[in-house]
Amino acid sequence: MMVPESARIGRFCWNPTYACPLRCIHCYTESGRRAAQMLREPEMRRVVQAIIDARPKRVSVGGGEPLLVPWWEEMFGLFKSAGIPLTVFTSGWVFDDEAAEKLASLVATTTVSVDGPNAVVHDLVRGRAGSFDRAMAALERLTRIRRERTARGEDSCAVALDYTVTRSGLPGIDDFVAEASARLPGLDSITFGAAMPIGVAQESGFVEHELLSDDELVGLVEAESRLAARAVNGVRVTVTDARFFLPNSPLYDRGAEIATIEPDGSLRAHGAYEAKVGSLLDEPVDVLWSRALEWRNDPYVREQTHSIHSLADWARASSALDRRYGSDADKKRIARRDGAKRVMLPDPTVRRTG
Ligand code: SF4
Repeated sequence: MMVPESARIGRFCWNPTYACPLRCIHCYTESGRRAAQMLREPEMRRVVQAIIDARPKRVSVGGGEPLLVPWWEEMFGLFKSAGIPLTVFTSGWVFDDEAAEKLASLVATTTVSVDGPNAVVHDLVRGRAGSFDRAMAALERLTRIRRERTARGEDSCAVALDYTVTRSGLPGIDDFVAEASARLPGLDSITFGAAMPIGVAQESGFVEHELLSDDELVGLVEAESRLAARAVNGVRVTVTDARFFLPNSPLYDRGAEIATIEPDGSLRAHGAYEAKVGSLLDEPVDVLWSRALEWRNDPYVREQTHSIHSLADWARASSALDRRYGSDADKKRIARRDGAKRVMLPDPTVRRTG
């Protein structure tokens, strides 16, 4: 399937920094382990304005940890003033009541990532002790403030829990839905999605130990209604089908309209891969976007992406594309990853308890 050259940008994923207090074993951007690349405020404002001027249907801000951007409140306000719904992804590590209040009034959705059914698993997957408790505390703050604001007749952002499913994080998700939905009245949704083989999650240690098998992936997608039945307090439960990235899937078009912006203002040719097609600081968005669509239809890229029929195939294709099209800095970073033979996982007998 060719990507139509007329494809328009529907959504921007803007990563304003690669700084992050966590070290997740599946991090798609390798955040926290690389330079933060955070632009100075005047340049970052230019990137934000370029995104706003493109009039996307929505914008997602992630990272890294976007709440580490010193002027995030004002930045989010710019999107709100422009009438563009904003979804913010946070780990909840740097979070307090003040942040929750600001987010409630500024953004459409605040999504907190929880990647294990309990602190033992989550903290190991996310690489930092205490991260489960902080994520759940952030969700408690957000849902409490949402209830208070709603009672006063004020608008408040939707609150979502995003669960990236690794093999370690798969057991116990049914009970997690029951417990989290009971603990967090006011939570809108819990979304499960299999970890995708992008960034450090394409490396052999992760693929071997933590990437879901194809059977586990199908089982997860088919579990949606079973999981939804465990929720209380009106919490909606969905499972994202990671197969939408597979070029032969009828779901593939869903990802074609997403434009991913790196912290230095570069537009990625495709969100899943390290290829960059230029910077929003130097060229108009539509010029860069045409180049991104051209890249997706390049014969070598098509050969790689069309060879993907499973998550394991995808890991191999990611590896080939990142090593070919990454910048010199990306290639050096990836080579260090190779050299270290990164095995980030603790003893599996430990991580499955708790
Ligand atoms: S919290 Fe997000 S950005 Fe930070 S290391 Fe984890 S996956 Fe990467």
